[in-house]
Amino acid sequence: MPAPFPAATILGYPRIGPRRELKRAVESFWSGRSDADTLLSTARELRARTRTRLAELGLRPDDASIPSDFAFYDQVWSVAAQIGAIPTRFDHLRDATGALDLAGHFTVARGEGDLAPLEMTKWFDSNYHYLVPEIGPDTEFRLVETASVTHFAEALAEGVLTRPVLVGPVTFLLLSKAADGAPAGFDPLSRLDDVVAVYAELLAAFAQAGATWVQLDEPALVSDTWDTPREQVKAAVRRAYSALTAASIPDGGRPALFVAAPYNRLGCAIRDLAASGVEAVGVDLVKGEAPEQDVAGIENVTLVAGVVDGHNIWRTDLDAAAAKVAALSSVGAARVTVSTSTSLLHVPHTTADEPDLPADLRSWLAFADEKVGEVLALAAGEAAAPEAFQTNRTAVTSRRDAVGVLVPSVRERTAALTDADATRSDYATRVAAQDAVLDLPALPTTTIGSFPQTTELRQARARLRKGEIDDAAYTEAMRAEIREVIGLQERLGLDVLVHGEPERNDMVQYFAEHLDGFATTQNGWVQSYGSRCTRPSILWGDVSRPAPITVDWSRYAASLTDKPVKGMLTGPVTILAWSFVRDDVPLAETANQVALALRDEITDLEAAGIGIIQVDEPALRELLPLRRDQQPAYLDWSVRAFRVATGGAADATQVHTHLCYSEFGEVIGAIDGLDADVTSIEAARSRMEILPAVAEAGFERGIGPGVYDIHSPRVPSEQEIAELLTAARASIGGRKLWVNPDCGLKTRGYPETIASLQNMVSAARAVRQAG
Ligand code: GLN
Ligand code: ZN
Repeated sequence: MPAPFPAATILGYPRIGPRRELKRAVESFWSGRSDADTLLSTARELRARTRTRLAELGLRPDDASIPSDFAFYDQVWSVAAQIGAIPTRFDHLRDATGALDLAGHFTVARGEGDLAPLEMTKWFDSNYHYLVPEIGPDTEFRLVETASVTHFAEALAEGVLTRPVLVGPVTFLLLSKAADGAPAGFDPLSRLDDVVAVYAELLAAFAQAGATWVQLDEPALVSDTWDTPREQVKAAVRRAYSALTAASIPDGGRPALFVAAPYNRLGCAIRDLAASGVEAVGVDLVKGEAPEQDVAGIENVTLVAGVVDGHNIWRTDLDAAAAKVAALSSVGAARVTVSTSTSLLHVPHTTADEPDLPADLRSWLAFADEKVGEVLALAAGEAAAPEAFQTNRTAVTSRRDAVGVLVPSVRERTAALTDADATRSDYATRVAAQDAVLDLPALPTTTIGSFPQTTELRQARARLRKGEIDDAAYTEAMRAEIREVIGLQERLGLDVLVHGEPERNDMVQYFAEHLDGFATTQNGWVQSYGSRCTRPSILWGDVSRPAPITVDWSRYAASLTDKPVKGMLTGPVTILAWSFVRDDVPLAETANQVALALRDEITDLEAAGIGIIQVDEPALRELLPLRRDQQPAYLDWSVRAFRVATGGAADATQVHTHLCYSEFGEVIGAIDGLDADVTSIEAARSRMEILPAVAEAGFERGIGPGVYDIHSPRVPSEQEIAELLTAARASIGGRKLWVNPDCGLKTRGYPETIASLQNMVSAARAVRQAG
């Protein structure tokens, strides 16, 4: 009999540190300011701090309640490194045992010179990015290092029996891509048995080190959007977990297995897990609905009820959560325990670090540490933890009744929206009106909006915040930058200019700071990828726009030139995707509120003489639900919100949109549905692979497939850009083709920006001339 699964736990904890200690230590190592030993000891201290903190908060240090989930860069890459799934191009970095040193790990994650890093992509429907493993028929899976066992042993030596957390084998392979050179149609999942064999070794190593429970995360099981059919995924689950639970594991021992399936409804796959003999299964009861039917009659498995939202920051309604736990307990013979719905990786450390938030708003929030308290209260029950239940009830009521949460004038506006508000004139009419006022050449050149964010710009913002300069001085600093950027674009000969977005710290936070209904935090950092963190804004109330946001900057930029200047807005879906959103109203409703605020902004931009307006929606793909049956409704409201935002624009106003990431095959219909006059997309990294799909979809409006990758400082030659443009024109025709980089330039420096844009403009001219 294994030790019982802990009554209260969390699926994972932020790794970055309450003051981004890990980020600082890692970046200092990268820049050569500190050595590997320093980084290793900082990481070790951080792990110890996390354990101490979680124990202080009340998680038991002796029963595997405390997760051990450290990763220097990313949890998917951590598994790949341990099981030897390292692409051959890095072979020269591996030592005699096949392992990479610390610097080598980061080289795989970040690349170096001509050595391309692993590709990075979004983790389920979150804004966290993982590194995509590359698996081929010849990948040699072998336990080459055991960092996760070391972390477990280090904790045990300090008296804490933790629960190691790893990405599980099925998810690992579903998230992988076929390595370069793999035969056509090769499916990484075909390597399941080999991967499982190494996991078995790892489990044996954990057992030997004294682990009682190991958590294997299998979020891939909640999604049905894989190329692999669901039946095959479920078969893989049965195969993998039957093997892992079999007694034949080397040395005869293994820890009890807890398989967690966060981010959506696990559905009947829970039966496959139970049938495979795993001891505990974690279900997401925040995003997943009606699990009772799926678990009815399941015995011999502990159900770990994820009732505290790990992916958002609101205090839990403990009464509602307790009812979910009770409902689950009532249908099965299984034992039910309490947890978070996902790892707490997605939320900041503690609300105690936000003294400047209004007290009532702060009382509505639960960050990672507060969520630990909620899990413990639920596990203890109201009789044992009456105060926690009472505090949360007070928070829930105070939030419901607070001024600004429900604003009648905002509600009336969204309720009055009709299809007409989301519909512009037909495209032909718009083109005629736009051609009459815009004098653009064939293959017009433009950029995506931002120009390099220099240290001086960031310093000016910091000085404004500290009160070292006043608003007037700050405005003048931004205007000086706009003058530079406009002058530069005129010299380069671009056709549609931008003001460069110098005033924006972040394309979402900037709007959040200027809209009612949002709050921003001081220390609310969450990991986005590697050492990169973002500070999502908190959308707490009905959204409205107290005053124009971007109009002064755009008007000023336009006053400096005779060329058209493009106004620049962030779209409603992206504003929601990169903020913490409300859980008390449907997202679709909030999206319309944001859309109306943007619609007013567009009207004001038009009145200021701005004839081209871009509404960025880089996150449209990211929020796409993981379950196919939920996708149509999402695409419906997200597309409609964009159309509400842009639907008031005059025929003569040219509406642009921009989308990042090239994998949007599945949303191409939605992109068409946005009905923008011009759409720019990322395309250069995949060498315009997406164009046939664009042509096939009958996309008839303007399109600007990015002609160079902005993620690296490399300067593309005129010739290579000209080749891409010629290919693009052949595939979709010249009239609707625009010329632009893949994305904004804010992370680039000026030298490469100027050189690249020079080549882009001359390539466009050459291709125009060649006809
Ligand atoms: N306008 C934004 C910029 O140029 C768009 C960035 C994005 O799509 N991520 O920076
Ligand atoms: Zn982009």
